[in-house]
Amino acid sequence: MNLIIQLDEIKESGLQLEGDAGQEELPQVDELVNAGSLMLPEPVHYRFDITRLSGMVEIDGELECDIEVPCGRCLESYRLPISSRFSLTLSESIPECFDEEGNEIELSTEEMGLALIEGEEIDLVEPLQEQVLMALPIQPLCREECKGLCPYCGNNLNESECDCTAPKFDTRFASLKDFKVKNK
Ligand SMILES: [Zn+2]
Ligand SMILES: [Zn+2]
Repeated sequence: MNLIIQLDEIKESGLQLEGDAGQEELPQVDELVNAGSLMLPEPVHYRFDITRLSGMVEIDGELECDIEVPCGRCLESYRLPISSRFSLTLSESIPECFDEEGNEIELSTEEMGLALIEGEEIDLVEPLQEQVLMALPIQPLCREECKGLCPYCGNNLNESECDCTAPKFDTRFASLKDFKVKNK
């Protein structure tokens, strides 16, 4: 399925696209996979509903996929289902805007929440991979109660306990917090 569509493919009844995109079709996702910060076990399933009306193109998108990311505590990869809906409006030209008194004002496309269509093509790769990247957890955790790795021997504490104990100075200095430090 081609993720770059031509404007004239959008007929009056709109254009519906449904398909799967593998990591090789999504360069930014591919980059993260190669860097080891993400795995895409199955392609991203997407649906697009695209309509064109007086110089504007409205895109409603939906995507579903499973990703695998390494847990921030124990480093084991875990599966995370992603599903998101999004919509964006593209414009074939910068629309004219007027203030309350009827004077023309210049607004950038960002200020209007619009993206400009360059040429005769619409690239759906960008919004699709943006959605995947936005769904990535900032602090990935395989589960809320993940115990992480032992800071002394690196053992995965979810799998087994280890005999490491905190070095002695830790307990010795722990009592220091009971002292009040006087500043003079
Ligand atoms: Zn974990
Ligand atoms: Zn240990």
